[in-house]
Formats: sequence, structure tokens, C-alpha cells
Amino acid sequence: MTTISTIENESASGQPLPAGAALLRSEPNRDCPLCPRLSGFRESARAREPEWFNSPVPSFGDPGGRLLIVGLAPGLQGANRTGRPFTGDFAGDLLYATLIEYGFAKGIYQARPDDGLTLVDCLISNAVRCVPPQNKPLPAEINTCRPFLAATIETMPRLRAIVALGRVAHESTLKALGLRSAAAPFGHGAIHAAGALKLYDSYHCSRYNTNTGVLTANMFRSVFATLRTDLG
Ligand code: SF4
Repeated sequence: MTTISTIENESASGQPLPAGAALLRSEPNRDCPLCPRLSGFRESARAREPEWFNSPVPSFGDPGGRLLIVGLAPGLQGANRTGRPFTGDFAGDLLYATLIEYGFAKGIYQARPDDGLTLVDCLISNAVRCVPPQNKPLPAEINTCRPFLAATIETMPRLRAIVALGRVAHESTLKALGLRSAAAPFGHGAIHAAGALKLYDSYHCSRYNTNTGVLTANMFRSVFATLRTDLG
């Protein structure tokens, strides 16, 4: 696994990150300014919907867990609204039902951050912590937010497995681990060795992917069934 110091050190505006901002922190500030387009989008959402979370969405779950799930970015009316990853939109319905089924979560998912759901041996994070317009972060924004993902990985001492939900999460996770993507192409159900870790790929559990048949619930479940067998 790479160290934080090898990771990109420019912000999305092209400016070098501040000295010392190797970002050995896994959570950005509420007003993180590093991606000008995303911070502007965040501000306009705050003005329009002052009751929403409208901030970088922190990771959820157990940092002492063996499993990390990496999504793309908060959905506007999902995690960006509620403040908890995958909470409040369709992607969370499938993800949390599957995690409960395979013992990585317990409780009842009710699409609210105060529903009492807890994760077991598992942490959920996103490659990009702020909501992007049309769910599409720019490459520079993915690069700029990667140190937070890298720090999240670094601060999980028992980590053994990472599930990347979609190609962007896959690519950013590989870079955070210091690996070349050519050696580990994305594919649903693919498993890549990453030193002592394994990286499991899945199509993202978005409504778009399930509505178009790119991903079925059974395809998604099979990734977590394999993971449960591997982790024991
Ligand atoms: S996406 Fe990440 S780096 Fe960019 S503004 Fe949000 S928290 Fe900061």
C-alpha cells in the first residue's frame, strides 16, 4: 500500500495544496474549498435547501472493520441531503438490504441517519465527498479528493477487503493504493490482489444501473456472498 505522500498534491483549481496538507485526515472540513465547482454547488444547495446536510459526507461505520466499501459521491437528494452515505435514495435500499443479508450491517434501514442501523466489520465511504452536479465529478475533483480516501484506507488497521462500487471508485481506489489500473481492469465480480488487501469490483448500485439491467440484485448479492465466504 502506498503512503499519503505519494498521492496527487494539487487541488481541482490547479493550485498546490497548502503545506502540510498531505491530508493525513480522513474527513474534510465542512467548508472544504479544494474543488471550486463543488464548493459552489454546495453553497447553492445550502441557500436553496438550508435544512439539508450540504457538506462533505463523512464515512459511516466501523474504522476498525475489515471491509471498506467505496462509492462514487453523495447523491443530491440522498447522502447530500441526509449526511450519511447511501442514505435516502435508491442506491441505499439495495446496498443496505444486501449488507444486512450478509451480516455486514444490523438493524432496519429506514433511509434516515437516525434509523439506528449499524455496520458490522465495515465502513462505507465515497471517492468524492461532495455532491457533484449530475452525479459526475470531474477527473481533477476525483484526484483532489483522493487523499481523504487514501487517509481512510490508511486509518483502517484491520482492513482486508475493499469493494469498489463502479469504475470511478475502482480507479480512485487503485491510485490511492499506489497501483496501476492497467494491471487491474474494472469488471463486475472481478477480484484484484492489492498487497495484503483484495479489491472487489461491482457495478454501482444506482437506480440507473438497476433500471437498465446493468446490475441486478442477484449480481450485487453475489459480490457480497463471495466477500462473506472470503472474510469468513
Ligand atoms: S470533493 Fe473532496 S476535496 Fe473536493 S471540495 Fe469536497 S471534500 Fe474537498
